[in-house]
Amino acid sequence: LVERMRAFGTTIFTEMSALAVRTGSINLGQGFPDTDGPPEMLAAAAEALRGGANQYPPLPGIPALRAKITEHEQRFWGLSRDPDTEVVVTAGATEAIAAAILGLCESGDEVVTFEPYYDSYAASITLAGAVRRTVTLRPGPQGRYVFDEAELRAAFGPRTRLVLLNSPHNPTGKVFTRAELTLIAELCQEFDAYAVTDEVYEHLVFTDAAEPHTPLATLPGMRERTLRISSAGKTFSCTGWKVGWATGPRELVSTVQRVKQFLTFVNAGPLQPAVAVALGLPDTYFTEFRATLQARRDRLVAGLTEAGFVVQPSEGTYFVTTDITPLGGTDGADFCRELPARCGVVAVPTQVFYDHKDEGRHLIRFAFCKREEVIDEAARRLAKI
Ligand code: PMP
Ligand code: GLN
Repeated sequence: LVERMRAFGTTIFTEMSALAVRTGSINLGQGFPDTDGPPEMLAAAAEALRGGANQYPPLPGIPALRAKITEHEQRFWGLSRDPDTEVVVTAGATEAIAAAILGLCESGDEVVTFEPYYDSYAASITLAGAVRRTVTLRPGPQGRYVFDEAELRAAFGPRTRLVLLNSPHNPTGKVFTRAELTLIAELCQEFDAYAVTDEVYEHLVFTDAAEPHTPLATLPGMRERTLRISSAGKTFSCTGWKVGWATGPRELVSTVQRVKQFLTFVNAGPLQPAVAVALGLPDTYFTEFRATLQARRDRLVAGLTEAGFVVQPSEGTYFVTTDITPLGGTDGADFCRELPARCGVVAVPTQVFYDHKDEGRHLIRFAFCKREEVIDEAARRLAKI
């Protein structure tokens, strides 16, 4: 194994899901739903499989899917793109993130990101030989995660190549406000940096969030320097399909494409027409999806609070983070490794998503993208610890 990858062991999701299987625990660790996505989408996939859509699709994705990706972006975010040159379909958001970083960063270039961060960010930055400059999100007023403006400014410098931003944010559930995004946008422009935005939870912003979701690309001066990434996995409850995409100006999309052709070339032929169908579903699908997840969040938050956890408010995504200190815990990793034996529930220690481990040592993350009876049973078990 090359030197630069030695620090990366098995991902926490693999470790914790294996622990859940081994101990027969309820898995509120890795974020995946326990119900299927829209039936129209599943039917379209089955039909495509039987209908012979089983050979290599075109490199940037099938035209029908690219058309729907652009229509969806226009419908929800008012962004208009050329489906032929400004969209590329990828193997999940993960491949789009990796290909963007590999294609944009020279060795030694710096990537500004926020911690806690989704784990693939550090690995992709490292694979590119780039360096991460991490700005810490900390619980602020009313527990909402915030960052320090001076810390963000200090993270930028002459080697900054890009900002990698995830909003709505995993694992905190933070939705970046327009004021926060404006600051990020100004710094990108001042330092002539690109932005790569991971918006896989774009449809999961709850009605009590401080603000609705704003794609960074919609801010003045940002469209031409932002690559916007999303995926079908979360929005359509099909995390195992790994159909994602990146949209942006032609140069950025062709950069992703240049790298992608040697990572996977193309992906998931029969799933592409099905995701196209899903992206075309009426607004009610997206509203109901959000309402369902919001109700599940509320249910889990009530259960966790009852069990004695201090729950940080989550404005979006599949996740809530909690402080284990009131329960006598000091180290989230130890706490999560012991939790299955104590009560048959699996969670994820968020310290693994920090460069500055002390910032997140006492925090753990629970996923609420599960059926209500599963959440209720988990809450009953957690109440006993
Ligand atoms: N980004 C974030 C913030 C995530 O939580 C995930 C997990 N699904 C991904 C990217 C990866 O998405 P995909 O499965 O589409 O690669
Ligand atoms: N995005 C999911 C999570 O944060 C899991 C993704 C993965 O297993 N790599 O739980």
